Amino acid sequence: MQTIRVAEARKESAVGREVRLQGWVRTRRDSKGGFSFLELNDGSSLANIQVIADGSLANYESEVKHLAAGCSVTVEGLVKASPAKGQATEVQATRIIVHGGADAETYPLQKKNHSFEFLRTIGHLRPRTNTFGAVARVRNCVSRSIHSFFQEEGFLYIHAPIITASDCEGAGEMFKVTTLDLANVPKAAGAIDFAQDFFDRPAFLTVSGQLQAEIFACSLGKVYTFGPTFRAENSNTSRHLAEFWMIEPEMAFFELTDNMALAERFLKRIFADVLAQCPEDMQFFRERIEPTAIETLERIVTSEFVRLTYTEAVDILKASGQAFEFPVEWGHDLQAEHERYLTEQKFQKPVILYDYPKSIKAFYMRLNDDNRTVRAMDVLVPKVGEIIGGSQREERLDVLEARMREQKLDPANYWWYTDLRRYGTVPHSGFGLGLERVVQFITGMANIRDVIPFPRTPGSAEF
Ligand code: ATP
Ligand code: MN
Repeated sequence: MQTIRVAEARKESAVGREVRLQGWVRTRRDSKGGFSFLELNDGSSLANIQVIADGSLANYESEVKHLAAGCSVTVEGLVKASPAKGQATEVQATRIIVHGGADAETYPLQKKNHSFEFLRTIGHLRPRTNTFGAVARVRNCVSRSIHSFFQEEGFLYIHAPIITASDCEGAGEMFKVTTLDLANVPKAAGAIDFAQDFFDRPAFLTVSGQLQAEIFACSLGKVYTFGPTFRAENSNTSRHLAEFWMIEPEMAFFELTDNMALAERFLKRIFADVLAQCPEDMQFFRERIEPTAIETLERIVTSEFVRLTYTEAVDILKASGQAFEFPVEWGHDLQAEHERYLTEQKFQKPVILYDYPKSIKAFYMRLNDDNRTVRAMDVLVPKVGEIIGGSQREERLDVLEARMREQKLDPANYWWYTDLRRYGTVPHSGFGLGLERVVQFITGMANIRDVIPFPRTPGSAEF
């Protein structure tokens, strides 16, 4: 007898097999004929498998008849064609081993249709619900798709450090990493004496693996990182987490147009893989979360993204006649309402904005000849807004150092970064994709806290 997953046992091809299934009971229904139906789920698919537990089972009266939502069991039995609608197979149990009970009075998931807010308070149990199971499977599919895409394109997977002494964005929204005694911080000349700290200097959790990815791209050509990043920004929005996963490809000899083309191909590949590999989960999201979920992805996979300079976007927004809360003005960052107008009303598809004013972008982005804009690009999608931020990097040493000084950064602190421009510099480009923003876009889940297994946000880090 083979142990198989529910997803496999649900296939017609399993009929006639003696199998062992292991999982959690979702419901039990007793029939007048002296037997029971169990709905069993093991996470391998959204759908459960129906188990028929006959009254003749040795533990029928003592255990099986008391099974309720949340109980864990091993079921041995024969897979049969099911006469019931909506399922190809069912399992006639010959033996049921009960591993753990779950008191129906106290089990929090006994009741159906809890709010997502409530489910966040039981992060240890929410993966047992349909929605969070579906999110976990889609997230897994996206992660595999990302690795497949880059591996097939000849990229090397680089593991960027999580602890760093450099602040990539110069934004100062970093978590500090220290072993100093916070109740008794050593001081030297009035300031904190970091010479006594673990790394001999202030250290942080990384906000991006980009600078390190650049080192490897400028040595090995095409690389990507895929790891956790941390931002201590106190933004309580539905699109920000304090800990999120970012994918950052970095390519030597890529200009901004190559970068845009890669980003578009990359996103389309992810969407196509999810449509092909998670049809059941996507159907669930369409029915329960976002009616256009599947249609939107299908349309994007076969259409072209819009490409627009920041300046063109500002002109379109100004001419739109829309009453925006924040006025649009060249030189200011676009707000969510502006991005949504472009992706949801004007074009109804993803938009790549590029050539942003240098004043609102990071020092490392390549300066255009107009001396006012840089080779930055953001990929915007309906509802979620920005999912990718990237740029062509400044490869000219003198321009890079001048831009650092403009932004009050000391080039000496970035000596290894500037060395890349000193020795064998090359044009190169890259971008960062937020994993959770993609999963949010694909599933239609409204809040980013519900597409990561364990969300970290201001004031919240339980589980
Ligand atoms: P935003 O303007 O949305 O705050 P950003 O411009 O600060 O984002 P980047 O530094 O460009 O973000 O990071 C690259 C990508 O990482 C973004 O396009 C987004 O997909 C994702 N991202 C950034 N910050 C967060 C966050 N706090 N939580 C989740 N994902 C994020
Ligand atoms: Mn950005």
